[in-house]
Amino acid sequence: MTKVIVSGACGRMGQAVLKAVQEADGLQLVGAVDVRGGADTGTLVGLPATGICVETDLVAALAHLKPDVMIDFTRPDAVFSNVMAALKHKVSPVVGTTGLSDEQKRVIANACVENETPAFIAPNFAIGAVLLMVLARQAAKYMPDVEIIELHHDKKLDAPSGTAVQTAEMIAEVRKAHKQGNPHEFEKIAGARGADYEGMHIHSVRLPGYVAHQEVIFGGLGQTLTIRHDSMNRESFMPGVVLAARKVCSLTGLTIGLEKLLD
Ligand code: NAP
Repeated sequence: MTKVIVSGACGRMGQAVLKAVQEADGLQLVGAVDVRGGADTGTLVGLPATGICVETDLVAALAHLKPDVMIDFTRPDAVFSNVMAALKHKVSPVVGTTGLSDEQKRVIANACVENETPAFIAPNFAIGAVLLMVLARQAAKYMPDVEIIELHHDKKLDAPSGTAVQTAEMIAEVRKAHKQGNPHEFEKIAGARGADYEGMHIHSVRLPGYVAHQEVIFGGLGQTLTIRHDSMNRESFMPGVVLAARKVCSLTGLTIGLEKLLD
């Protein structure tokens, strides 16, 4: 049994994770943490009471619960210190929270080595989104002019999404950096062409009603190719989260991306 605590347990993703962990073979929920605290982890998500209440102090929970794994779905400004605290206690983090900088990921990778504790980060835990990224990298070899449109609910804090950034990074592995569009183009309203990643443009839509969606559009002579993924609800992420929680302790160092855990 892998002993798991959930950080950000009262949030939208945290509640879905609580339920998934309680229902998953091989995982045992031993605790939960959220700045809000209080509720029983079972009744919070409409399951029978577990007798495990959501705590507010992560460091204290890590010390007295001694879990194997901490699953974190909190906020971009909280995730880094949560991960560092987990590693210090030799607890393996499984991180879904987006917004970690490259520098923070480097520090986490070093902390994994220093504490001899593996960690796992995935910008997107939905298998379809992972396939989209892999297919996009393949398509970019042949159609290197590409733009990314990501669409999320309007409570999301960071932009562009972690998935969009990882998609751009994977495309950049096979695409030579180059400017796209008219060399003389100009913006009549600042930001009209979106973010620029090595000449690829990334557009972020934030509207109520969306969960997490992404289109990658490739343009070629007389043709376009669009690859699109839609997460219809938060359950779409749960098989990936459960897989990572089961596997993280057998990894070495910091692993980034769900595709690394698939065949
Ligand atoms: P959310 O509903 O705001 O949930 C975050 C929860 O964490 C809230 O209850 C929040 O409390 C709490 N929290 C804030 N700081 C904390 C801390 N230091 N320690 C413990 N708990 C803390 O957000 P969400 O929609 O669940 O999304 C959470 C994160 O997951 C976001 O970064 C989002 O982009 C990411 N996400 C990733 C994936 C993926 O597949 N990787 C999928 C979906 C979402 P307050 O509300 O009081 O601040």
